[in-house]
Amino acid sequence: AALLLPLAACGQSANGVGDGAAKDGGGGKGGLVGIAMPTKSSERWINDGDNMVKEFQSKGYKTDLQYGDNVVENQVSQVENMITKGAKLLVVAAIDGSSLTDVLQKAADAHIPVISYDRLIRGTKNVDYYATFDNFKVGVLQGTYIADKLGLKDGKGPFNIELFAGSPDDNNANFFFDGAMSVLKPYLDDKKLVVQSGQTAFNQVATLRWDGGLAQSRMDNLLSKSYTSARVDAVLSPYDGISIGILSSLKGVGYGGAGKPLPIVTGQDAELASVKSIIAGEQTQTVYKDTRQLAKVAVQMGDALLTGGKPETNDTTQYDNGAKVVPAYLLQPVSVDKDNYRQVLVDGGQYTADQVK
Ligand code: BGC
Repeated sequence: AALLLPLAACGQSANGVGDGAAKDGGGGKGGLVGIAMPTKSSERWINDGDNMVKEFQSKGYKTDLQYGDNVVENQVSQVENMITKGAKLLVVAAIDGSSLTDVLQKAADAHIPVISYDRLIRGTKNVDYYATFDNFKVGVLQGTYIADKLGLKDGKGPFNIELFAGSPDDNNANFFFDGAMSVLKPYLDDKKLVVQSGQTAFNQVATLRWDGGLAQSRMDNLLSKSYTSARVDAVLSPYDGISIGILSSLKGVGYGGAGKPLPIVTGQDAELASVKSIIAGEQTQTVYKDTRQLAKVAVQMGDALLTGGKPETNDTTQYDNGAKVVPAYLLQPVSVDKDNYRQVLVDGGQYTADQVK
């Protein structure tokens, strides 16, 4: 609440361009919102950006949507630009969660509030709210899916599994991995699950910038070193783009052909290519996160900040960014496979029946 007072009081009229705010008393309603997204190489971020633009504009705000191409320096200068253009609010999905400290100090100096979007911005007090999903739960859904499909609870095993995690500079990657391991670790300890490569630590299995190509070459290596005679039964994959890379590696050595079924492969985001892969019987599962809902949460937070209201939150303990615990609103992720994709994704309006044909 401390941040609302100076914001409402200062009016920010010196900020120049995009100055709708001055007309209604300087609270920021109608002003410019800067939206910084990480990359267009994944559908979800395109949807996130488009959805937020729609929502903010329907509430009368102007928007400046930028994508950083997964290059940290691009994102920093894009945010700097938004500040110069007189943005009244910043919504940022960081490329590297710890690289925004300096530029967000500039935002704070200009009294611009900041919403951390989907990924937690780390190491700075200058982040006001966090809109995201229950990221630990995402990993739990992936781990549980593998455990259920393999029948581990019924005592089946041992099975071979390989583990992949997301980008080490993305706070979410740790949450996903820890969530999945909270389910899988007991089976690893009991040797009902065996990692033939021996690579089980986060830093051994992480995938810089969530790069599917990198994951594919790591899988190639794992297969040629540890699976000349053994068979892979499951692969923990944190993200659809990584899953697609892993699957091409597997298919490259004959998985999916006669007598060599593909392992269980998890994923995240319900990207169209992965949904089609699931329908075709290749990828096994994904975790759907409704970006329309996330955009609504971020816009609710932003609108409240700019009009003197109080953003709604439902978690004030989990997301410590190293400088403060950032009050958050967490949405619920949903596990999707061949059995429920129609109900969740088509009936739910994410895709048309034609798109997934
Ligand atoms: C997001 C995931 C996404 C990943 C790669 C994470 O921060 O939460 O939904 O799969 O980044 O883009």
